Amino acid sequence: MEDAPLLEREPETNIFGESMVVFHTAADLIGLAPRIRLELEQPDYEHIFYITTQLQDRLVPFRGEAAAAYERLPASVIPNRAAITPLFNGKLILRPEALRSGSIHVQDGTIRLADQGLYRIQPGAFVRFKAYRVQHNQARGPYKGGLRFHKAVSLDLFNALSAEMTWKTAIADVPFGGAKGGIRMDPREHSKEELEAISLRYMYRLKQLIGPNVDIPAPDVGTNAEVMAWLLRQYSDGERERVNHRGVVTGKDVRIGGSEGRVKATGQGLAYCIEEWYAQRGAPLAGARFIVQGFGNVGSAAAEILCRMGARCVAVQDADGAIYDPNGIDVGALMAHVNDNPQNLRRSVAGYSGAQAIARDDFWSVDADICIPAALGDAITGEVAERLKAKLVAEGANRPTTTEGDKVLAERGISVIPDIIGNAGGVTVSYYEWIQNKRMEHWTEGEVNARLERAIKSNYRLICDIAEDRPRRSEDHDSTGFVLGKRLPMRLAAMVLALKRIEAHYMLEGFSQ
Ligand code: NAD
Repeated sequence: MEDAPLLEREPETNIFGESMVVFHTAADLIGLAPRIRLELEQPDYEHIFYITTQLQDRLVPFRGEAAAAYERLPASVIPNRAAITPLFNGKLILRPEALRSGSIHVQDGTIRLADQGLYRIQPGAFVRFKAYRVQHNQARGPYKGGLRFHKAVSLDLFNALSAEMTWKTAIADVPFGGAKGGIRMDPREHSKEELEAISLRYMYRLKQLIGPNVDIPAPDVGTNAEVMAWLLRQYSDGERERVNHRGVVTGKDVRIGGSEGRVKATGQGLAYCIEEWYAQRGAPLAGARFIVQGFGNVGSAAAEILCRMGARCVAVQDADGAIYDPNGIDVGALMAHVNDNPQNLRRSVAGYSGAQAIARDDFWSVDADICIPAALGDAITGEVAERLKAKLVAEGANRPTTTEGDKVLAERGISVIPDIIGNAGGVTVSYYEWIQNKRMEHWTEGEVNARLERAIKSNYRLICDIAEDRPRRSEDHDSTGFVLGKRLPMRLAAMVLALKRIEAHYMLEGFSQ
């Protein structure tokens, strides 16, 4: 008998185990009841499923010696350029009608495009993707967390990220639990039509597991408002009371029930934390220099808002390059280069002419006051932490600092605004979006940001009080129920706040049998 074909294997990592170290330390510190610890140390549900779809035809660049045989192949003309989607890897995707639409010369599956050279036609195949949704905990409310479309996702990663959402929703004090999910694939390798088909199929499978009062996805790396719109349509199409389904995803376009301020909310929340950090030290944020890793949703919004507050962006690094200008990078112009330049297929800061290109690795040694990791996990290793010049690391990304990195930052006296408060602005405004959907309301950006600022800064101050062992009570602030009688690192203090808020639900509601 032939062996069954191998399924893609999970990478052999233990991100989840590592991510739970702070949880266990905080649980020990507050004497968390053993049964509550058992409930929290594993997710409620781990859903893994597969999505199949048919890809469109692709044109793959054809170079090298074998290509010489096609020297005389006449150039084909495809009149409708919109039928061709260039991908970041040099391949082109053709709409089905494209090959029929123009004067096409094909020889052995090879064509020459005018001014573009030779390509092999790769017929659209059926493919299968591995998909996930991990629902970690719902003690405080419906599961809540983003969807990530990325090549390097795994069950292990989603377990870690879904648990982080449980802590984050508790810290932000929004009535949700934690979840996370997504699909293992690179969205940059697909056309819009393919991404739509993949997203619809994902929701087709997910529909029985989620709902506006059960589990509410949102954008994360590789997904955006457009993906949320497809998911909403797939979830609610044909339903009699579609209006009641609007809150099944957040991060929607404002024209279809999204919240004002949601796109920038994560960066905005991070900027509020940084503003508070400076205010507590009586130091001016205006004039402070910062570096930012990742110039996507979170990094670019944080950079834009901090510049508006008077700070100066001196370096940016992303997956494809790094740029530097000690006098300050024009963040608006950089956003236009990344988001609106049709030549910039990788949507990278690389190639931006308004600043000096530097080696990606040199980014970490740039002289600055604030370092903002806003890309993926594990960016600030021990070695990177040794080289940082900043006095503050403000975490926009999830889990950007390794355990070793954390140790070095502490030894060097570098402050940390931990991810679970630093990037909680996104889920906080997602909650506002969800309320607006339920109430059929539309709040102004001013209202949203005023609420967000109050929420983020008051929860940040509670964490600071726990870290400084400083019980304080006033009309709108009370940290007396959280401080432990000893000083703690900020990351641990944030976890203490989360666990105390989650613990209250188990203590007061008990356990159903
Ligand atoms: P995004 O896809 O919009 O942008 C990601 C950015 O990171 C891009 O600029 C990309 O080039 C860069 N990047 C990717 N790999 C890199 C690498 N190896 N080195 C350097 N740069 C790299 O994603 P986003 O929504 O901005 O999310 C960024 C981080 O923030 C993620 O960790 C995400 O989980 C977290 N986060 C996002 C939100 C949100 O509302 N979008 C909320 C909370 C947390």
